[in-house]
Amino acid sequence: RAKETGGDNVQFYTAAMNDRLGERMLIEGALRSALERNELVLHYQPQTDITAGCIVGMEALIRWQHPELGMVAPYRFIPLAEETGLIVPIGAWVMRTACEQLVAWRQLGHDGLRMAVNVSARQMTEKDFVQSVAQVLADTGLPPHCLELELTESQVMNDVEHAIAVMHELKKLGVLLAIDDFGTGYSSLSHLKRFEIDVLKIDQTFVRDLTVDPDDAAIVTTILALAANLGLEVISEGVETAEQLEFLRQHGCRQMQGYYFSRPAPAGAIETILRDDAAHTAAV
Ligand code: C2E
Ligand code: MG
Ligand code: MG
Ligand code: MG
Repeated sequence: RAKETGGDNVQFYTAAMNDRLGERMLIEGALRSALERNELVLHYQPQTDITAGCIVGMEALIRWQHPELGMVAPYRFIPLAEETGLIVPIGAWVMRTACEQLVAWRQLGHDGLRMAVNVSARQMTEKDFVQSVAQVLADTGLPPHCLELELTESQVMNDVEHAIAVMHELKKLGVLLAIDDFGTGYSSLSHLKRFEIDVLKIDQTFVRDLTVDPDDAAIVTTILALAANLGLEVISEGVETAEQLEFLRQHGCRQMQGYYFSRPAPAGAIETILRDDAAHTAAV
């Protein structure tokens, strides 16, 4: 339509905004009922320790199976869920479902695994967030050290003092804390020292061109050294090739997650992967 009117900017922007507003309203309305209609599902992506040669954890990643829109990726609805506050009930559902799933896998004998759950800023500022995590642990019987909460730098930096207080309460429960997408935010090293975190997750944007871009290589090796010096675990995200794996291995990274090992998959498919992994590990 913008082209028809000869590039009238005002009309162009209005049309674009209406489209976006339309999609937004459509998605927001549908998202409100998604939970009740059981349209949300979790996929899981293995985290592999290449030294031990086995899967040591899973990250729970949400998907929305909408009857007409199809499979909706998180980037299309998580920001909206955060704005509208729907992330609070959705996040609570994710936490409970992921913990229940890990308990089920533990009962099948996969008891060396932990479950990583993404937590958004909006959830963390809820007054009863820590209590809700404690409740899920109590209800499911999952040992706290098997649960890892992934926070981003920006969400922690948003209100540093509050975040430090919440992280302290979470550590008292015994859960593990990870900083997701590390390197993309703006947390200073002096803050990092005050965060009671256990794991740094190197953002996939640095891993992608690791073997061809010297700057990315430098950033990754620096994060690995930083983690080692601070006594933190470190995991590389977005590992897709044997070359990336080899570079990371040579620079002391043991834990990796990415398509090279496995794409995120539904619980049923992950169960098969876990069975093969256990058989393989037993055979070695
Ligand atoms: P994230 O937590 O950093 O998750 C990693 C993302 O990278 C996932 O995208 C995963 O599918 C993708 N990925 C994994 N390995 C590779 C790889 O080798 N190559 C490439 N190109 N990508 C890879 P996904 O599932 O689309 O999730 C995107 C983001 O949505 C997540 O980033 C996280 O910030 C958010 N998210 C997902 N699930 C939840 C949730 O339950 N709650 C909240 N608050 N956010 C979530
Ligand atoms: Mg994550
Ligand atoms: Mg990430
Ligand atoms: Mg991310």
